[in-house]
Amino acid sequence: MKIIMLGAPGAGKGTQAKMIADKYQIPHISTGDIFRANIKNGTELGMEAKKYMDQGLLVPDELTVKILLDRVAQPDCENGYVLDGFPRTIPQAEVLDKALVELGDAIDYAINVDVPDENIINRMSGRRACLSCGATYHIVHIPPKTEGVCDKCGQPLVLRDDDKPETVKNRLNVYHEQTQPLIDFYSAKGVLRTVDGTVDMQDVFNAIVEILKDAGNN
Ligand code: ADP
Ligand code: ADP
Ligand code: ZN
Repeated sequence: MKIIMLGAPGAGKGTQAKMIADKYQIPHISTGDIFRANIKNGTELGMEAKKYMDQGLLVPDELTVKILLDRVAQPDCENGYVLDGFPRTIPQAEVLDKALVELGDAIDYAINVDVPDENIINRMSGRRACLSCGATYHIVHIPPKTEGVCDKCGQPLVLRDDDKPETVKNRLNVYHEQTQPLIDFYSAKGVLRTVDGTVDMQDVFNAIVEILKDAGNN
């Protein structure tokens, strides 16, 4: 099963992708997490990506596509995966599409988690992230058991640099200009499904599970 999560920054793609990955036992692949891990480890890729991320801009396609194609070629991706935060531009989607066609394969579903812009700033300012294991919380909606500490690994939670309101506004603009066109791209392929992302995270997940009941197993 190969799934793409679409939606604005903060729509809940990561939250849902992790739940999908757990239920269907497929890897959750987040390009944002890969970049943040590289920044944390001080790699060259991390330093390059950070320049763009801190401004709320997209990392150039060239760099991003290479990382993603390497990742999906790993053996654990044989039975599928859920992509979170990739593709984010039409050229990225075209490269992925071409790579899949060469394998005689295709995306099963692109799930669009729909949340209006008005809700996004609140979602982002309340988001707390664990940079060690990638878990995400919300101080009001999805709080950790102990304030400021990751439930899963015990590491401290942080407000991401790019989740500050000034940067979030840029990211929303970038989303509307560069990423939203993917909704039409996947709609034309007949694989787009939209879920209401404003409801409780469990209800969003139930809607996704209904959709995935029809998906193939590879
Ligand atoms: P969010 O889940 O809040 O949308 P991500 O963790 O997916 O944030 O992405 C954080 C940042 O990493 C983006 O603002 C962008 O700078 C960079 N990034 C992540 N994925 C991509 C991608 N596919 N193409 C270009 N840049 C990306
Ligand atoms: P994305 O990956 O799309 O950027 P996240 O999954 O990181 O989004 O979610 C953004 C913020 O909103 C996080 O703080 C997360 O805990 C919270 N969140 C996710 N889903 C919901 C929901 N259904 N209702 C309320 N808050 C949510
Ligand atoms: Zn953690």
